[in-house]
Amino acid sequence: MFDITKKKAFVCDLDGTLFMGPDPIKPAVDFVIDSINSGRFSFFYLTNNTSKTPDEYIKKIAGANIPVKPEQILTPLITLESYIREKGYKSVYLLASEKVKSYLEKQLSDVGIKFEYNPEENELIALTYDKELTYEKLANATSLWNMRNVPPSPMCPIRTANQNKVEFVATHPDNCCPSERGPIPDIGGMMKFLEITNGMKPSNIFGKPSPSLLKTVLDKFSPEQIAVVGDRLYTDKAIADNAQVDFVCVLSGETTKEDLASYKGIAPAVTVDTFNMIDDVK
Ligand SMILES: [Mg+2]
Repeated sequence: MFDITKKKAFVCDLDGTLFMGPDPIKPAVDFVIDSINSGRFSFFYLTNNTSKTPDEYIKKIAGANIPVKPEQILTPLITLESYIREKGYKSVYLLASEKVKSYLEKQLSDVGIKFEYNPEENELIALTYDKELTYEKLANATSLWNMRNVPPSPMCPIRTANQNKVEFVATHPDNCCPSERGPIPDIGGMMKFLEITNGMKPSNIFGKPSPSLLKTVLDKFSPEQIAVVGDRLYTDKAIADNAQVDFVCVLSGETTKEDLASYKGIAPAVTVDTFNMIDDVK
């Protein structure tokens, strides 16, 4: 049974939950603002979209008059940053837009990170939702993989002197990004593009549904005190299930009542039309 009196923190998806495109879903946003002002709950904001920097999300959330701090934004860019730190990587071939690259360069400036293509030095290929993706970047990523990870063959006569394997990670798994014009390509297609070229596949995919994104929240609260709120069953509910926390399904975005009726998995802990209606659940 879902018991709101046990909850201390909500991890909210943004699009379809608190916003519809650029516009706030007013009753849901008002509920968040009131809950912050009364000190009732803590909030965290979850997004898989690595084409945007955390600062852009802070602007969007603050723009709806919700008080927000950087540590409340949960994006796989932060997971990527800690991954690079943990592994001690210094040379990463990063496929990202210029603003995302600058953001990560700044965050990792203390380790002297380099994000340029360098076949002799790169230790990691990191794919983000790169809205400035070019043929050259895709060809560089596959070449790096061919020259470092594939046994020598007449098909790839150029080899690097450095024969240490290069790792490949992706920030999230989404196949498409919702837009006013319907679904547009996200990182899923970029991964497929690489895979059908030479079979390269990421060793790690961060972001929803990987519970690694909830680490900072789970460090502060017990699983019973947390709920994930979202509109997508295969990402938002999946991350809640993987982290073993309650899932609040909102019908203000992608999932419909019909989808829920035909859903084969465990039902959400609670389903409401918009997030603010969670108080009316008996
Ligand atoms: Mg959503």
